[in-house]
Amino acid sequence: MVHEWALAEAIVLYIENQGVKRGRRLVVKTGALQSIDREVLEFALRMLIKEHGLELGEIEIVEEEPLLKCRNCGYEWRLDPSSMSQDVRESIHFLPESIYAYYRCPRCGSIDFEIVKGRGISEIRVEDHD
Ligand SMILES: [Zn+2]
Repeated sequence: MVHEWALAEAIVLYIENQGVKRGRRLVVKTGALQSIDREVLEFALRMLIKEHGLELGEIEIVEEEPLLKCRNCGYEWRLDPSSMSQDVRESIHFLPESIYAYYRCPRCGSIDFEIVKGRGISEIRVEDHD
């Protein structure tokens, strides 16, 4: 729980630092491999946005597909989060490093790959009135 609140705090500070005070919609992209409870994050964001005197209408938290890159052959591939079983998802959520136990490079079979996208927050965007 503390994790989502710390994240929400960082997001709100980031928005403030951009000089943004109001917007129609806040879009936050989170990596599918990150252990984020989206409901808690949304709740925390709403509370903090209010506390900081910002006016942001909707909050949309979007899950980003992980992008992996093989260090051995350079191949890049995406994981479709919906293709991951619940067990695998949970285990990776709790320990992202456990991804190496479940996946390997589809081209050369190496388990020496990096997570290019799919962890942390990759985008924070405030959309204006249209
Ligand atoms: Zn490879």
